[in-house]
Order: sequence, then C-alpha cells, then structure tokens
Amino acid sequence: NYPHVFEPLTVGNKTIKNRVLMGSMHTGLEDRAKNYPKLAEYFRQRAAGEAGIMVTGGIAPNISGWVGPFSGFLKYGFQVKRHRLITEAVHQEGSLICMQILHSGRYGYHPFNVSATDKQSPITPFKPKKLSERKIHKQIRDFVNCAKLAQKANYDGVEIMGSEGYLINQFISPRTNDRDDDWGGSFDNRTRFALEIVRQTRAAVGQDFILIFRLSMLELVNNGSSIDEVIKLAKALEQAGVSIINTGIGWHEARVPTIATMVPRAGFAWVTELIKKEVKVPLVTTNRINHPQVAEDIIASGKADMVSMARPFLADPDLVKKSRSGDVRDINICIGCNQACLDHVFKNKMASCLVNPAACHETEFISQPVKTSKNIAVVGAGMAGLSCSTTLAERGHQVTLFEAAAQIGGQFNLAAAIPGKEEFVHTISYFTHLLDKHGVKLKLNHKATEADLSDFDEVVIASGVTPRVPGIEGIDHDKVILYHDLLSGRKKAGKKVAVIGAGGIGFDVSEYLSVDDPSKAQTIDEFCAEWGIDQSIESPGGLIKAHDDPAARDIYMLQRKTSKPGKGLGKTTGWIHRLSLKKKGVKTLTGVQYDKIDDRGLHITVKEKPQILDVDHVIICAGQVSNKALYQDRDNYHIIGGADLAAELDAKRAIKQGTLLGQKL
Ligand code: SF4
Repeated sequence: NYPHVFEPLTVGNKTIKNRVLMGSMHTGLEDRAKNYPKLAEYFRQRAAGEAGIMVTGGIAPNISGWVGPFSGFLKYGFQVKRHRLITEAVHQEGSLICMQILHSGRYGYHPFNVSATDKQSPITPFKPKKLSERKIHKQIRDFVNCAKLAQKANYDGVEIMGSEGYLINQFISPRTNDRDDDWGGSFDNRTRFALEIVRQTRAAVGQDFILIFRLSMLELVNNGSSIDEVIKLAKALEQAGVSIINTGIGWHEARVPTIATMVPRAGFAWVTELIKKEVKVPLVTTNRINHPQVAEDIIASGKADMVSMARPFLADPDLVKKSRSGDVRDINICIGCNQACLDHVFKNKMASCLVNPAACHETEFISQPVKTSKNIAVVGAGMAGLSCSTTLAERGHQVTLFEAAAQIGGQFNLAAAIPGKEEFVHTISYFTHLLDKHGVKLKLNHKATEADLSDFDEVVIASGVTPRVPGIEGIDHDKVILYHDLLSGRKKAGKKVAVIGAGGIGFDVSEYLSVDDPSKAQTIDEFCAEWGIDQSIESPGGLIKAHDDPAARDIYMLQRKTSKPGKGLGKTTGWIHRLSLKKKGVKTLTGVQYDKIDDRGLHITVKEKPQILDVDHVIICAGQVSNKALYQDRDNYHIIGGADLAAELDAKRAIKQGTLLGQKL
C-alpha cells in the first residue's frame, strides 16, 4: 500500500521512516508547564500511530514573540525539562520530533510585540514596536538560543517558522518591511534576517540536527513575494544549511481560503512543485492533504518529497499506521471544518476535533472494555447516536440502533449536500464502517416506539431535531420549503428565492442555491479562478483579479435581528462564507419583519417600510426543535445531541456527548 508514502527518507544522520510529517498545530497545551504531561501523551499517541516526523506547535524564542499573553516560549535552561517529557515519549515509540520556533512579530496578540515595521496588522489590535538594528541581532540570538535549548531537550531538530505572515515573513516581504537600513529595501536586505537565523543556528547546533524552514511560497496578500523571489530565497536557505523546506501558504491576514473544507484536496501542491526542480533539499507540501491516496499521488508524481498533514492527525492519531495496514475505511478522515481545532485556538480554547473529541484530551477520554455486557437501545443514527452506539459496542455492549430514515447520518447528510462540504460524507462512511466492525444491530426505516424500547437495560435517545416552523401568515403556502426538504433533494427551488434565517443553515442553503449543480465539487483550477490565485505566482503575492461568479438564482437572505448576518459562524470560516455569498451577489436584509406569504411572494417590513419580494420560493431556516417524545424520566434513559438541546447542526457537541456517554455506560 502506498509505496511512495512508505519509502524512508534519510536527512543527515537520521532516517524518517515514511514521507508523512505531522505539521505544526497550536493545541493550547504548549502554553502551560502543567499541561506538558498531556502534551507528551498527545504526541506519544501520534508517534505510536507511525507519523514519520512531527513538528510541535509554535514555541516563541522570547516573550516578544508570544502569539498571545503567556503563550509557550523557550528561553531559559529550566524550561528544558518539560520538553523532555515530549521527546522521551516520541522516541520511545520510534518517531522523530522537531520543535517549531515561532516568533509572531506584529501578529502577537499582546502589547510587547515587535516587527520589521511599526505598522499594525489588520488582524491584531496591538501596534508593534519597530526593531532597532541592535534589537534585530538580539532576536537572532534568541532564535539560536531557543534552537540550542531544543537540542538540549533532545528534539531531533527545529522548524523555523518563516511563513504565514509571522516575524521572519514580515522582514522578507515588502508588504511589511518598510526599512531603509541593512534589513530592508533590496531582496538581499529583506532576507538577511531569515538567512542569518538559519546560518547562526546551523553553526550552533552542528550538522546532524534537522533544520526545517517553513518558507512562504504563496503569500496571497498584495505586495507579497513573487515566484522568482521565493526560488532565490529557497536556494539561499539551502546554502545556509537547512535540511528540509516546508511549504507555507497564505498569510493569516489573506482573504483567500487556504485550508478550509472548500479548498480542493491537495489544492496547493502545485506551489511546492514550482520550487521542486530548483533545490536539492527535500521539500514538504501541505494544505488539505487528508487521505493516504492523496499523499501517494503527490509523492509519486514528484511534486514534493514529503507531505505535511496536521489536522488529519487530530482526527485520527493512527492515520499512518492504518494506511500501512491497508484498511483505509478505518481512518477517521479530517473533513476540514475547523470547528474544534482552529476555531477553538482563535478563541483561546484548547484545540480538539469535531470527529474525534479525544484529540488534545487524550488523558480524559478513556474507553475501557466492559465487565458486564448490557443490552442497549440507541434511538437515532445522527452524529450523537452514531458516536454513542459505536463507542458502546466497541467496549463490548450489545447495541441496537433504531433509525426512522433509510440511511444513517441524520442532519450531517444535509451538511454534506452543501457545495464545498463534500468531505462531510466521509464521517458518515466512517461510522457505517464502525457499525459493521463493532457489530451494532442497525434497524433502518424503523421509527422506534415505547414498546420497542421496553426490554433494554439502557436506552439512549438521540432522535435529533426537526426544522422549526415559524408562525408567519401563509406558512402553508406552496411557495414554502423547509430547509431539510430542499437539501435532501425532496423539493426544488425556483429562480427567485428568499431564505428566512441567516445563521449557519441560512448561509449553507444560500450557498447551495447559488450554484447550478450543488453536487459538483470544484476543481483546483476553478477554485483558483474563483479566489483570484495566480498559478504562476508571477504577480506579487500570487494574486490576480478574481473570476466573477454570479449566483444561479436571485437570492435574498433575511434575518429578523439587526446584527451582522452570520455573526455566529466559525471564527476561521465565517469570513469565507460571507465573502463567498457577497461575490455571488446574494442580497442580505437585516431587521426584517415577516408579514405574510402569498401568490405574490414574501411580504416583509424593513425599517417600517412594507415591501414584497416577488420570489418563487421561501426557504425556511429558522432553527430547530428537539425530538424527545420517547424520552422518559427514568434512571436507565439518557438523552443526547439535538434531542437534548436543539441548536444549529451542532455535530461537535453531538459527537462529544455521544462518545462520553458511550464511555460511561
Ligand atoms: Fe479536521 Fe474539523 Fe477535526 Fe479540525 S475539527 S481536525 S478540521 S475534522
């Protein structure tokens, strides 16, 4: 299986046993010394899962490099001990690990941040202090010191973070480097900071310590680097002593999606390929690589020497081991939703994973085999019922899963129908496999009754939600379609549509309505054209004029509240959904009062002015109500997921609640 992925790679005196690098992810655990035992267990599990080489979340070389207040940094000898917990755990499992040195520069969310410039970034409220030449040398010394301490902690190497718009990138790019001294202006001056860090670090740590440099290859911001500059810098880095070059795509302030689920798989491997023939050191490609076949195709085609997967290791720590043993149905695929990983980190919460709530909480989620097997009924095969029944059955209980519909997945099937969320179907396939593997008795097309449940030792009600029907005059009119009837394909919408509700489902439905064929996934070329990505990277930052892509219909998205539509969408993806609908010409109205629906369309009042939207259909996305009819207030009855709390398609809460109950009963 996947012969190119499993071909070892020798770097210096170390052999990486396969071509998969677990990319750096900030989990939140690296910020407190007391969490290092948990962090060690997190890495131990991924090492046991056969990741070839791993990179830790970013560790700052000093306080000015903090990502946020009190985030992880390594500057003093006494801090080394906690890192040894990680390296020991990883080495015991036979893997390799590098520590990422990340200086956030003007992205630092704190008042001590510094940069090549004194201009504030558009995504942080703190103005940076412009570094003097003396302080630049001090920063370089801190990088070197940090690498030496990492070596003392027995890391196999370090990754120097030179991309994503962080400090080193802020020196490299004319966008943020407005200096007129030896560290700004010409290309040689702007790259001096990066190259001095690499040269001095290599001199300090010797030849065998792995030095990975994360190079910003496609910046996706105005006034960023062009391909000629990227190649020139890659060659200079090779000369300066890096062992591996990793690919960086997009600055954090870029307004182009780079890792969200709508980015096609391996959507940026072409970027690494542009550099591949220019340098001899191994190149790692990255972004939206979530399946071993995707990794195999990239390496076999020669686009890169290795692949970086980060979030896929949250979704499944054993991803590489399972790929080697051959049954890929066993892999819990990362669906690129960002809902429990990046969205958590950006809200200062511990990272986890929607499809694997144990991620970053390894010491809390423990599934023990049962001593006495019970007969357990689970009602509803949505995400809560699926996670609960498969966890229960894996532990040794006898589980019967009742589902009224003809297929499993519940509301997740509706999410998977949205353009750009095609990956969601893999979670349903994964659970289909687990039901079979763990011997859950599945009863489809069977609406459970009280009588069905009377003989079970335990009953879990996971019967989900139904759409809420608002009390608007004319709600029974033929023009009205409930969102689940539309997304399931039972009903079709005409050319002029009003969507009532601008929450997550309203946005998804508007996205669904805006294309002719929602089931057709975008190709990489289509994606690049939509978002204005120059595939030659000849223009600075790799940006060109985005392709106009008007919606296939006239769409109005309406909400009763006067707040910004989509306010509750995920931190890292909300802006993409808002921008996408804006580009497609979807009209949004807020502060809307719904008066009635009749043959003429939807009658509304906005700012006390009545108007009629002449639409063919009105799609209702006005929330949900819980289905809890079968729940009884008895000790052996349990209620989870949407049946417990109706909220917008909250699969994250549903899977977590189902898994925890499954581990407890
Ligand atoms: Fe992937 Fe979503 Fe899990 Fe993040 S939360 S690791 S994007 S599946």
